[in-house]
Amino acid sequence: MLSGKTAVITGASRGIGAAIAQKFASLGANVAIIYNGSEAGARTVLESIGDKVKCNIYQCNVADSQQCKDTVAKIIEDMGAIDILVNNAGITRDNLLVTMDEEDFDAVINTNLKGCYNMIKACGRNFIRKKQGRIINISSVSAIMGLAGQVNYSSSKAGVIALTKVVAREFGGKNVCCNAIAPGFITTDMTKDLGSEEEFLKSIPLKRLGNPEDVANLAAFLASDLSGYITGEVIRIDGGLAM
Ligand code: NAP
Repeated sequence: MLSGKTAVITGASRGIGAAIAQKFASLGANVAIIYNGSEAGARTVLESIGDKVKCNIYQCNVADSQQCKDTVAKIIEDMGAIDILVNNAGITRDNLLVTMDEEDFDAVINTNLKGCYNMIKACGRNFIRKKQGRIINISSVSAIMGLAGQVNYSSSKAGVIALTKVVAREFGGKNVCCNAIAPGFITTDMTKDLGSEEEFLKSIPLKRLGNPEDVANLAAFLASDLSGYITGEVIRIDGGLAM
């Protein structure tokens, strides 16, 4: 389904990003795995993919625009043009608004929102030149619902939805689709300390938490030719939580 395509996936050293990288590779895509601090995790994902497709790892802090530019240039040099960009890297630093440090607000906005801007800007000319491309931004149901304790995170992920729609309009004429995925509770490191699973299950109609592969399947659809007439869309994948 993705044979001959090259995908760049940020935050692919673990969790949802790792599952997306593995899924895309299983569908024939070459993958560039971007990590920040977890080199060992990135190497494990690389090894799990094996040599069926071309796969490399790259260290890059997506909040740093120069690192994004340099990394994208290196990926193009190593792997040829980029066809698919998945902006998945993200962090949480939860606290109630009155007690949240400014530094924690800025860190979350800079990674989750500005990171998407940095990566799309770094890849933009490549997409325009090719007159084709797919951009998939990972938002969250937190953007739609506004979760207490997440003023930084919800705001960053709501920003990702607005950014997705702007990019869909600006790049649409160049045959580039840009969509957002809004996951609910997915079992990864990010959610392992959130508290009682039973409490969450009460509000999820499907009565289970999601797993990274659920999100990877949706990302694969949005990256493929099957979704060629979808752009500017936000798709929840949350077991019905935020409907
Ligand atoms: P995770 O397990 O905590 O993994 C986060 C990933 O982001 C790691 O690969 C990490 O890389 C990378 N990352 C963090 N800061 C970075 C930076 N500055 N530059 C580059 N990479 C960076 O999280 P996850 O649960 O898989 O979440 C993936 C995405 O889904 C995030 O955007 C998250 O907000 C979103 N999401 C998750 C859930 C959920 O329930 N899990 C729900 C809704 C949305 P290193 O480890 O290499 O530093």
